[in-house]
Amino acid sequence: MPNYYIWTIGCQMNKAESERLASLFEETGYQAIADVKQADIIVLNTCVVRQNAEDRAVHKLQNFKPLKKARPGMIIAVTGCWVESNTDRLKADFPFVDYFFKAGECPPWMDKDKWSQALPEKPQPATYVPIIHGCNNFCAYCVVPYRRGREKSRSMADIVCEVKELSSRGTKEVTLLGQNVDSYGHDLPEKPDLADLLTELNAIDGLCRIRFLTNHPKDMSRRLIETVARLDKVCKNITLPAQAGSNEILTAMRRGYTIENYKKLVSEIRSVIPNVGLVSDIIVGFPSETEAQFQQTVDLLTELRFDAVHLAAYSPRPGTIAAREMADDVPEDEKKRRLKMLESLQEKILTEINADLKGKIVEILVEGKQKGKWFGRTGTDKLVFFTDNVNYTGKLVNLRIDQTSPWSLQGTTKY
Ligand code: SAH
Ligand code: SF4
Repeated sequence: MPNYYIWTIGCQMNKAESERLASLFEETGYQAIADVKQADIIVLNTCVVRQNAEDRAVHKLQNFKPLKKARPGMIIAVTGCWVESNTDRLKADFPFVDYFFKAGECPPWMDKDKWSQALPEKPQPATYVPIIHGCNNFCAYCVVPYRRGREKSRSMADIVCEVKELSSRGTKEVTLLGQNVDSYGHDLPEKPDLADLLTELNAIDGLCRIRFLTNHPKDMSRRLIETVARLDKVCKNITLPAQAGSNEILTAMRRGYTIENYKKLVSEIRSVIPNVGLVSDIIVGFPSETEAQFQQTVDLLTELRFDAVHLAAYSPRPGTIAAREMADDVPEDEKKRRLKMLESLQEKILTEINADLKGKIVEILVEGKQKGKWFGRTGTDKLVFFTDNVNYTGKLVNLRIDQTSPWSLQGTTKY
């Protein structure tokens, strides 16, 4: 039986696409293999959102070169955001690669209809469902719109049908994915929005939880916030990247909102959806960011106390507006210092937020076992571990929280 090996880094969209690719391989008679040296076909699913992700992909690919030399029949394919429309340069630099295909596109050796209908192969308690591809926003630092193209929504009927199928196979939780889920539907004939989609999905029997990400602060509507509050299966968990705390930096980033708008939106979300888990993304060291402007990001995190923050140091991406027009003038050491400062601030905030959960009863969906302990997430996306002899995979379980740390919680079923 021929076999395949997939290597993936990057965002949830990459993970979703790799899961679907794996399922198509299985459907066409391929088997997953853990030892890359023995693989008949290798797919590298890449990310170039920051230089270090790109470096990892290049390094990995270079490691495959001797494998191909030893076994010339092996096929090597590269996808993900590294692959541009014009692949001439990549082909010249990596002549041992058989195929380059763009992120989200059908692999050249596969049937297009099958690709568009592919589902994750193995029934998992929680899985990803892409609802809108691409992005129309062109934030100054971001390479995603150049690599994933313009926004293209999947039809509501397709998504509903897919989630019903997943749920009939045992999936309990879906995370709807898009670079900007607030744009969902604007390009479809009936112009549905995310609130319409959530309402339809909420009615699916057997499905227990619905999440979605990422929201854009300039586009998130009151109607969506109210819909999240109203629908029982929709997790009270919102990913709303602020990116920076200073209005000058937000303007330079072309984010399309002010920090005052952002804070107003957060307080609206928190008043309509009590106990919501809020997640943000922050970039430090964007071109021209001064110490005082960075301090405004510190103030933002201190004031809003997010439940999770994805922190990144600015990395110039060739072709983006910032890389073309602005000097990368914050020294690397200074970026690191700012990053460390926010990391320790966030650690302190999370220590406090999570400590408040001690003694409380939470519901988690058990996703599996790690180092002998069951683990799952609360609706607000807190990671919880517990031990028990019963098989809990795919079950919703109530736990009492006994121990807390900034990054995870420990609970018990016996309370
Ligand atoms: N569509 C989402 C995610 C985009 S990429 C959004 O709008 O937030 C994921 C995260 O990577 C971004 O939120 C941003 O914080 C970070 N990122 C993107 N480009 C970057 C760059 N050039 N340097 C550093 N971080 C970057
Ligand atoms: Fe990139 Fe901005 Fe689009 Fe997010 S919204 S993918 S940060 S351009």
